[in-house]
Amino acid sequence: VLELRGIRKSFGHQPVLRGIDLTLHPHEVIAVIGASGSGKSTLLKTVNLLEGIDDGQILVKGDDISDPRIDVDAARAKIGVVFQQFNLFPHLSVIDNVTLALRKVHGVPRAEAEETGHRLLERIGLGQFATAYPDRLSGGQQQRVAIVRAIAHTPELILLDEVTSALDPQLVGEVLDLVTELKEQGATILMTTHEMSFARHVADRIVFLHRGEIVEQGAPADLLDSPQHPALQEFLARVA
Ligand code: ATP
Ligand code: MG
Repeated sequence: VLELRGIRKSFGHQPVLRGIDLTLHPHEVIAVIGASGSGKSTLLKTVNLLEGIDDGQILVKGDDISDPRIDVDAARAKIGVVFQQFNLFPHLSVIDNVTLALRKVHGVPRAEAEETGHRLLERIGLGQFATAYPDRLSGGQQQRVAIVRAIAHTPELILLDEVTSALDPQLVGEVLDLVTELKEQGATILMTTHEMSFARHVADRIVFLHRGEIVEQGAPADLLDSPQHPALQEFLARVA
């Protein structure tokens, strides 16, 4: 679904991504872990074309979306994205938040978009909040709405950047449960997380980013229980 080849990115003189190669297979869930500032968010932003890259290629379903000539909106239409916070439009109702892109970007007629929106809201148990505004919802509820909004157009690839880190601990579980459900339904997900137990349980593979490089990757149990690289050993000792 996604293939990253030699992605390099600097901010000014500071290299942030130093040659990232990564392939995400259909239905695979990859969790990217690493210290603050290691480049996790920047990596996800480059995939969604929110940050340009200095070198390398980004292939989504074989199409090179890093080619400057491509249609950025068409490329983004294959991807669903949720960031840490401020995902919902505060001035739009919950149902409008969920259906806006479906209608405006994907050209789905309003009635059909709303049917999809209501179905998704029911699925996450928030059907009764359809006409409410986001500030009436808890952080966890808002984040779940943001996630169903991101998947409303059934994207090929879902990017989740620290979707629980702005939440109170008691709200984290409901968001993680939704991500687990997406995985069970066959979604292909590239996510970053600080929740090691979540990465262990939901990811097929964990990638450890250290100073803009993937220095170790593998099955969760291998990587978390027998880290090889000293930087990963140190990182896990700190977060444990
Ligand atoms: P965290 O765990 O704190 O979210 P991260 O791994 O997501 O960290 P990034 O946000 O990708 O880290 O940042 C990587 C580095 O790039 C940091 O040193 C950051 O200061 C720098 N950086 C990120 N965005 C920009 C920007 N728009 N302009 C300049 N520097 C940036
Ligand atoms: Mg980040």
